[in-house]
Amino acid sequence: QFESVGFIGLGNMGSRMANNLIKNGYKVAVHDINCNVMKMFSDMGVSTKETPFEVAEASDVVITMLPSSSHVLDVYTGPNGVLRCANLMRPQLLIDSSTIDPLTSRKVSVAVSNCILKEKKDHWEKPVMLDAPVSGGVLAAEAGTLTFMVGGSEDAYLAAKPLFLSMGKNAIYCGGAGTGSAAKICNNLAMAVSMLGVSEAFALGQSLGISAGTLTKVLNTSSARCWSSDSYNPVPGVMEGVPASRNYAGGFASKLMAKDLNLAATSVEEADLQCPLTYQAHEIYTELCKDGHEIEDFSCVFRHYYSGKDE
Ligand code: NAD
Repeated sequence: QFESVGFIGLGNMGSRMANNLIKNGYKVAVHDINCNVMKMFSDMGVSTKETPFEVAEASDVVITMLPSSSHVLDVYTGPNGVLRCANLMRPQLLIDSSTIDPLTSRKVSVAVSNCILKEKKDHWEKPVMLDAPVSGGVLAAEAGTLTFMVGGSEDAYLAAKPLFLSMGKNAIYCGGAGTGSAAKICNNLAMAVSMLGVSEAFALGQSLGISAGTLTKVLNTSSARCWSSDSYNPVPGVMEGVPASRNYAGGFASKLMAKDLNLAATSVEEADLQCPLTYQAHEIYTELCKDGHEIEDFSCVFRHYYSGKDE
């Protein structure tokens, strides 16, 4: 259904996602404030645009993959933003895949629904917004195996599914506007807390005389088995190919985890819930970043528990 796709935000994730769209035959136009990455795409023969608004004018669908909520607001509602001219909207569908707070996702969705389509297509009377953050990281973005969690209208989700499956292997519909963003921060909150729990269990186990390898075997065949124990073990040398076994290089940076936990903590406050682990996890990752570990993988929190012993 959609032929031309605009892509804004060509960083670690976005550049790889845009490449997969190109490989899958979509006509892609791109924009980023980083001139080097724009040059890289124009050298590949991809159409580059000076502003988000120009991308929107050239595209049926616009996808954004930006660092945080303020960048998303700027790209959509700023002076040269996608929504600059409410009555001249060409793109039917706007998809934000950035990890941001659900309130901002809903705010942008409302701004989009106040616009009118210049080129009406089929049953698309108005442009539609989906929040569709991803799980998977840079390697999955490169391999086209991301998971998309999608909030917004279900019709729009179904129409966008071929696009998601050009960049990922799963797309899960979560409900109305903002629920994709909500799913993403809940996933990362649970992932952080499970990583902290597993790390703490290994720290205690080793000090009680159980080797990390043996404790891994026990956990992975017992009720504590989880992704942090069986697929992304934080103890160096226990598993091959994970960041823990290459000095915590690559993987999912602690600074990104701290950012996502900040979003979770803000949402917890807004919802007026009691979630002590959210605050504590946020505090631990903020401290790790302050101590200079911000680009190390978030499983380096295991070493944090040994800081007095082996660092
Ligand atoms: P990144 O910092 O590598 O890329 C962001 C890009 O956006 C940069 O190229 C930057 O120049 C561009 N940008 C910033 N402001 C802009 C603006 N106003 N207009 C146009 N371009 C602008 O970030 P990333 O790692 O690609 O992550 C993008 C999003 O995906 C973040 O929200 C992140 O939390 C989320 N995410 C990242 C990972 C990961 O492993 N890196 C995994 C899942 C989700």
